[in-house]
Amino acid sequence: MFKPGKFLSVLLIASQTTLAFSQTQRPHKQLDIDLKNVLEYPSSPYLGTNLDMPRSQELPEIGDPSGTSFTPTQEKQLGEAFFRSLHGQVEVSEDAEVGEYIQTIGQKLAANSDNPTQSFHFFVVEDNNINAFAGPGGYIGVNSGLILVTEAESELASVLGHEIAHVTQRHLYQAFQAQGRIQLISMAAMLAGMLIGSKLGGSSNGSQPYCTARNQGCQPSANAGQGLAMAAMGAGTQAMINFTRDNEAEADNVGMQILSRSEFDPRSMPTFFERMQQSTRFAGHQTPEFLLTHPVTVSRISDSRDRSEKFPYRQFPDSLTYQLIRAKLRVQSLRNPKEAVGYFHGIYNQGTKQQQDVTRYGLALALVANNRAEEGIKLLQELTVEYPYQSHFINALAKSEMDRGSVAKAMEIYATARERFPENSAIRLNYARALLVVKKSEPARRILEEMVHGFVTPDIYEMLAQAYSGLGNEAESHRYLGEAYYADGQTNVGILHMKLARKYSGNNFYLNAVIDERLHKFTEEEKERKGEK
Ligand SMILES: [Zn+2]
Repeated sequence: MFKPGKFLSVLLIASQTTLAFSQTQRPHKQLDIDLKNVLEYPSSPYLGTNLDMPRSQELPEIGDPSGTSFTPTQEKQLGEAFFRSLHGQVEVSEDAEVGEYIQTIGQKLAANSDNPTQSFHFFVVEDNNINAFAGPGGYIGVNSGLILVTEAESELASVLGHEIAHVTQRHLYQAFQAQGRIQLISMAAMLAGMLIGSKLGGSSNGSQPYCTARNQGCQPSANAGQGLAMAAMGAGTQAMINFTRDNEAEADNVGMQILSRSEFDPRSMPTFFERMQQSTRFAGHQTPEFLLTHPVTVSRISDSRDRSEKFPYRQFPDSLTYQLIRAKLRVQSLRNPKEAVGYFHGIYNQGTKQQQDVTRYGLALALVANNRAEEGIKLLQELTVEYPYQSHFINALAKSEMDRGSVAKAMEIYATARERFPENSAIRLNYARALLVVKKSEPARRILEEMVHGFVTPDIYEMLAQAYSGLGNEAESHRYLGEAYYADGQTNVGILHMKLARKYSGNNFYLNAVIDERLHKFTEEEKERKGEK
């Protein structure tokens, strides 16, 4: 699992000298959520959450107490704030291959929804708990744990289809509009806390008992990142989004139509839900979080089974990419790479030729992670020869050579890879990363600048900051660091970097205008978050 070089802004601000990228870290999970806002308000009887804000407070508000709707702009802002806030509470995967896969399958399904104008963004959360959730603004997250328990790509598609349906049928807003008024930023953070309720127990590997507000015996640890859901729990309330039975039935129904229109197997929906439900029957197995937010009943499964059988039966083979992504997530999810080596050795030479090749890929990644690069690279070389037009193999090969310090070899492989896959973002990103390591800041900057349009993960901003630092451009470097922290949910640190950028930008009129605009936006949001506005 790649963890980009992250760095402590504090050091940087103290010294105000060249950025020491390789030695310091961007601190994760230090989202300093101001819990006071939430704790002060009396709890609402609805859903047990305490979103009712005092009516007298003169704050800009979203949501209408009479239960009408958000404007499209508010919804977009809420979604973006939700996604940033989530970064402070969970590990959103920054693996470009994983991100590209979930986006591809998600967008394929979304294109077949009832509301093709709704924007969607799909992402993977690095968490072994079985969960998926639909936030505001079409932000749909899937835990790696869920992807790993699916046994067919259509099963994963059925969960995504179900979540897409919750979005298009506006179930989340139906629940929230009944809550009364709340500020956008607070609401976004609160939603993030609720939808990932898992963090309450401090367990992300599924080995500890699941703690929710329903389970008051569990003591959450005092990690600030556990945030708002915990605050609601402290107020003796239930920090969960519970969709109603009708919502669930509708999401199943609509989701199944999306599945079938997208060339996935509708029968996978009851199959997957059944498997999850059965998994809770064994002693010691905790209830998957997905079932807590989307309760599965026997009648719900049989309803969806009946509906699915109306579709003509046929085979729906999994894509190779689905299988490769699962193998990669398997390696990332096991704490000890030795375990991963053991896992893939255990299934070596089993299944079809394609499954065997997927196993070789997984084993190769596990070996490289286990400091057995030589053996891993050998397997990847074989796969690259057999599958010259499969980007995952050559990308892994180049990265493994780079990671073990064979820079010249890695660069040679990247050259071939870039020729074969000029549009592949994972290869471009890994190549840019390699260029930064060997201090080739300008070519790295050029690649990264092309990638900062549209949807950008914090690590891309961070790499750009590093490239600009290498070029001696402190203003741009701090500006992109500011963007990285902001995207990572740490607006307060983002503000500090924007201020530093402004200090270094001199008479650059264009850059000053850009920085001022961002600084204003960040500052306003931070004020709102702290309740100063
Ligand atoms: Zn649901």
